[in-house]
Order: sequence, then structure tokens, then C-alpha cells
Amino acid sequence: MGWRMLADGTASDFRKIGNPADLDHVEEECGVFGVYAPGEDVSRLTYFGLHALQHRGQESAGIAVGDGYTVMCTKDTGLVTQVFEESDLESLTGKVAIGHCRYSTSGGKTSWDNAQPHLSIIGERVMALAHNGTLVNTGKLRRVLVDEGITFRSDTDSEVAAKLIGYYTMETSHMRMGIKKTMELIEGAYAMIALTEHAIYAFRDPNGIRPLCLGKLSDNRGWVVSSETCGFDIIGAEYVRDIEPGEIVKISEDGVESEQGLPQRKHAACIFEYVYFARPDSVMDGAGVYRAREAMGRRLSKEAPVEADIVMGVPDSGVPAAIGYARESGIVYTEGVTKNRYIGRTFIEPTQELRQMGIRLKLNPLPYTLRNRRVIVVDDSIVRGNTSKQLVKMLRDAGAKEVHMRIVSPPIVWPCFYGIDTDIQKQLISANMTVEETREFIGADSLAYLSLEGLESCIYAQHPGFCEACFNGEYPVELPPDLVKNSFKPDMKPVYWPKE
Ligand code: SF4
Repeated sequence: MGWRMLADGTASDFRKIGNPADLDHVEEECGVFGVYAPGEDVSRLTYFGLHALQHRGQESAGIAVGDGYTVMCTKDTGLVTQVFEESDLESLTGKVAIGHCRYSTSGGKTSWDNAQPHLSIIGERVMALAHNGTLVNTGKLRRVLVDEGITFRSDTDSEVAAKLIGYYTMETSHMRMGIKKTMELIEGAYAMIALTEHAIYAFRDPNGIRPLCLGKLSDNRGWVVSSETCGFDIIGAEYVRDIEPGEIVKISEDGVESEQGLPQRKHAACIFEYVYFARPDSVMDGAGVYRAREAMGRRLSKEAPVEADIVMGVPDSGVPAAIGYARESGIVYTEGVTKNRYIGRTFIEPTQELRQMGIRLKLNPLPYTLRNRRVIVVDDSIVRGNTSKQLVKMLRDAGAKEVHMRIVSPPIVWPCFYGIDTDIQKQLISANMTVEETREFIGADSLAYLSLEGLESCIYAQHPGFCEACFNGEYPVELPPDLVKNSFKPDMKPVYWPKE
């Protein structure tokens, strides 16, 4: 059961959870969801929305509800289904709600206080905030707020944003002004939903790095905001449009009102959403994710053909790409591994002995399909290389005659500071080894990556401007010098997009 936090933030709990096995992968970020629907069971709708977004974050979940008078919030560490019981949803009644599922990129993983939504007191009112992304300049902003006497419950960047909105809303007496002022100060990637007792506000950073879209419930019953369209599908809502970069959308009894909080900068949607983060049934900026992944596999088969007997994908995101590779090359697609789908982030910490088993906690080979076969393995990315190494060994142990790795993204050479956990460059295998050295390290017979140009050509977005910094070192948002000093290899420096 989740722990209830009252508006004054009095109750708290800290439940320890085990660390996940380090499966050496790019990790998801967060999912945000919001609904304005007077007369509907908004907490239940949010619960189902979060359930659809669970792939974006499995460390904690929370729902805040506004009932016209105040804001109530329930959150805890764990999966959505672990945090909420029927009784929680029954007691979270209101007309407007927001929800969050978290993968930590800022702040500790296991603290209840770091779970979202975060609350901020505005005079006698309460505001809740859910954030997907990472802010790069909150250290300084936090110090300024602390000097103003504002206290924090967590060590997250998101709470700094929540407190800033509260501070400026008090100062200006207008929530929208509070958000606008905050947007002028914070830098980085953010798709945020704020909630008051009677309205929600959805807003995105001016580059639109993280996704956020607007949907509508059938029969004019209300409005929905979600990180991905899969959050709409589960509750029967219809996609209306993406929230624009820099836009603030307010949804209340006055309907949907839009205002440009900050001028749009050049679009920099995270291209990795299409490769790995997003669910395949989602549509982002008009581009279907499954279709994009299949096209990536097709393109990769043209760029890096190899003779083989079967093509297999690494579940889940590698599968549509493997199907595309197989269709284009004419080589048979088959499943070579089966995935344990019930391995959340909150399972008991494996012993050292079990940790050696590494990848087997998640994937197991199908020897019948692999024995004596030349196998093409399609995966989304290689981060540190350990998982790929274990995977290749596992396939060989299961009888594969040859293993050819095909990766549907370019090598990840640069760290990400906009919402995922690859923020130390020296840990990235491609920042330290050539493709040939990486092939040797993982033990594959061949290794090839999709080109950046090839990747771009597979995404049919309406606004095709992408952040590709982890591949090319060109960052849309400037990073503070201490971050650069601590995260980049001494001989490698980021390049920044020109500010418009
Ligand atoms: S650096 Fe890479 S993962 Fe991070 S936002 Fe940009 S494209 Fe996405």
C-alpha cells in the first residue's frame, strides 16, 4: 500500500528495496500522466495511465488528486501495482489528477521523499508536480531557495522546480506566471504536469526534448495529458496533439487554454525515444514507434548485411527492428531468447553468486532454434558492453555457430544529461574502444551499428529535429562547467547548439 501524504507533507515512510541487477542498458526515465474529468474516477484513470507508462520508470509511483478544495497525494517506492491498492484509489477522489512513475536520474533511487509528485505549499494552497526529464542547473537554484528559507524533502531536481513554481506563484499570485518564471530559470529537459485543487498545467522545455501529448476522453468527459499515447489507449482517450516545446497548457473548467511560456528553440526531441524508451504502440510527434523500429531494422540490413541462417531480436525493443531486418534481408526471423517479464526493479538483491548469472535473470536462450545456426542478433544499443558480452556467450553456449550483432543506433560515445542514466563518459564502451575492439570485447563474429543518417531517415516525425547528443556530442542545452568537468573524458568536450 502507498503512503498517504497530507497537504502539509507530514507523513512519510522509507521502504528499502533491493537494487536491480545491473543489466547494463540505457535505462528509462519517467512517465507522467494527468487527467481533468469532473464526475469521473480520476485516480483510477490515472492509475491505468501510469500502468501503460510503467516501462518508463519502475522505482516509484504516485498519484495526486485535486478535489476543488485541496490536493491529496499517495506515493511510494515500487511498481504502480505495488504502490496502489483499491482502498487508495477509492479514497483519492476529485475532479483532477496527475501521476508519475519514476526512474531516478537525479536524487536517490529508494527514498520515499524522492518519489513524485512533489508538493509545494503556496500560501494556503497546495500544488503537486510530476516531472519527466532532468534539469541541469538546479544546484544553484536550490541554494538560492534555501537562502530564502524554503525547505526541501528530497534531493531531486524536480522538487527544485516544484518549489520555484510555488515561490513565484506566491509572488505573482498567478500559477501560470509562477510556471513561466520557473521556465525562465530552469535549464534542461522537462515534460511537467502541475496540479492544483481544480486544474492541471502541462508544459515542456523549449527544445521539446521529452515527449508530452494531449488527449481527450470520449463524449467530452474530460482531457488527458500523457508522456506517450499508449497512456490514452488504455483508458479509451483519443490523441489530440503534442504539447508544443515551451508551451504551457492549462486545463480547467474553462477548457484548454494555451500560452507560449518560452519561445520555441530548435526542436530537439530525444531520438532515443524511438529507438528504445517509448512503447512500440505509441505515436510520437506523428511518428509510430513500431513502424520506426521496423524501418531501422530494414535500413540496418541494407547498411550492414551478413550471411546467416536466422535473425533474432533482443526483447523488447530489438524485436520490431529484427523483424524489419529479416523482411529486408529475406533471412528467417525467429525467437532466440525468451524474456522473464516479471522482473521489476524492486526484486530482492541478488547474491554475488546469482549476480554472476547476470543476463540469465532476464533472458534465457532457446537452444532448439540456435543450435548450429549462424545468428544475427538485433539490439537497440550497447552502453557498457557487459550485457552484450554475456548475451553472445549465452547464445554460443546454447549452440549458435556464429553470432553477428547488429545495433539499430550509432555507437553511444557521449553522456546524456537530459533524463537517462548514461552520464559518465568513461563508462561508455564506445567512448573507449573502436567498433572492432568492442566486437572483440563482446566476443561476436561481427558487429555493426546503424548510421545516424540511417536512423534519422526511419523516423517520420512532423517536426524532425532531434537531440542526438549521445551519438554526436552536440548538445541542445548548455551544461554547467562542473558537470562537464566531472562527466566527460578530459580529451572530449561537448559542442552546443547555437542559442536562437
Ligand atoms: S543525449 Fe541521447 S538519450 Fe539523451 S536526450 Fe539526447 S538523444 Fe536522448
